[in-house]
Amino acid sequence: MNLGILLTRAARSFPDRVAIAHGASPYCTYGELAHRAAGLAGSMKSKLGLAVDDRVGLFMTNCPQFLEAFHGALHAGMATLPINNKLHEKELAYILDDARASALFVTPDLAEKAAIAIEETGRDIKVIVSGDSEYASLLAGDPAPIVHRASDDLAWLFYTSGTTGQPKGAMLTHRNLWDGTLNYFVDVDRVPPDGSAIHAAPMSHGSGFYGLPHLMAGAKQVVPESGGFEPAEIFELIDAHSEVAMFAAPTMVKRFVEHNGGGDAENLRTITYGGGPMYVADCKRALDRLGPKLVQIYGQGESPMTITVLPREDHMASDHPRFEERLASVGYAQSVVEVRVADGDDNELPDGEIGEILVRGDVVMKGYWERPEITEEALRGGWLHTGDMGAFDEDGYLTLKDRSKDMIISGGSNIYPREIEEVLLRHAAVSECAVVGRPHEEWGEEVVAFIAPVEGQEVDTGELDKLCLDNIARFKRPKDYRIAPALPKNNYGKIVKRELRNWLESEGDG
Ligand code: AMP
Repeated sequence: MNLGILLTRAARSFPDRVAIAHGASPYCTYGELAHRAAGLAGSMKSKLGLAVDDRVGLFMTNCPQFLEAFHGALHAGMATLPINNKLHEKELAYILDDARASALFVTPDLAEKAAIAIEETGRDIKVIVSGDSEYASLLAGDPAPIVHRASDDLAWLFYTSGTTGQPKGAMLTHRNLWDGTLNYFVDVDRVPPDGSAIHAAPMSHGSGFYGLPHLMAGAKQVVPESGGFEPAEIFELIDAHSEVAMFAAPTMVKRFVEHNGGGDAENLRTITYGGGPMYVADCKRALDRLGPKLVQIYGQGESPMTITVLPREDHMASDHPRFEERLASVGYAQSVVEVRVADGDDNELPDGEIGEILVRGDVVMKGYWERPEITEEALRGGWLHTGDMGAFDEDGYLTLKDRSKDMIISGGSNIYPREIEEVLLRHAAVSECAVVGRPHEEWGEEVVAFIAPVEGQEVDTGELDKLCLDNIARFKRPKDYRIAPALPKNNYGKIVKRELRNWLESEGDG
């Protein structure tokens, strides 16, 4: 089944409900969105010469037109290719070339970058700039009937760097997205008909994915006018809409919670966070401010948003003996997957032992686009090998131990940075921190901590040392502290440890 029938159905059953809001104002109804998607689908075929199965790129700042283009492509039986809008021209060129994209929707602010990238590919890629007159005429084309798709057909090609450097396209099928969408209602949240999903995070990633359950439930998707994550604006939008849900990286949750003057966010229903570590100290602060509104998920492009969940109840169970451990975990397996922890030979490990996290289920990607060898490697034995390390406790709660590439090996011992970061963040003057390894002649690697202090405060590294000595083994204590006003983050709000390591390496060279 083509996932696009969700929109067709919505347009028949509740045509007048608002499907998309831009800022506080309605942008279009379900009837209008479906009509535009069908018109665009017709035009993509008749006017742009595109065909079923073509890959249609979306390189856009968050905007309502993202959803028109996305559903237009699905309706036409094409594969959507949402791309991180902060990528460099060269990275964009790589993806367009690798995916052999036939068309690219861009927002006006990104048109120049897109033109440079396309020239670099040397390919004939049709560019459609959202909002201009050509775009409007494509939308107004003769509506085409929806193209039937098999469950196994490609719906979303998701480029990810994964554990190795080169980006590769995780092929997400209609079935993958359908299952993940249904599972939102089981494990994450119920969506009421007057629900709203604010796209505060990039729509090319988790936030876009979570638009689907809202569409399925006939709720509203809200795109901030700024197109990005501005805490003050998000607070205003929460006031303007009802039963608000949003997806946010933990670093965004932190900024949101620390924003002063945002009011009580009464209309906020749920923040689902994930995509990177949420530290216990930050999580507790968020719970103090927001109350029972947090749900955590762990996923990756290859099994989007659906590996484990830490539900709302566990965030509130402060009298549970393992409350803190649970907050530090990523919860238990979501309902549509099997999750196990295995050693290097894929043997399942007992609870408490650290190994690679493997996932199996109908949400797991079909494979990597035109990469049979790495597909076979990643999906060997029928299990997705996530590249993440972790351990289960006896209740089935999984704790991540950093990706294998972030693990530090010092004097032959494995050190998981997260453990040290959790401790450092307990210090009241520490706002953000990231622990990485630096090459060391004798020990192999040594531990270095990067600290961003809370604004207006100074960090006493002697106190940090003491905190570590009081809580973790001596050999894990950072040998060096680097203070910086903020830590480098990618477009999805994840701290980029690679940059910190490069920085240390370049110092070593000098
Ligand atoms: P991406 O494919 O860009 O979504 O990145 C997925 C990776 O982000 C995972 O493989 C994990 O390493 C990390 N990640 C995702 N969710 C969480 C989470 N809840 N806690 C910690 N790390 C996470």
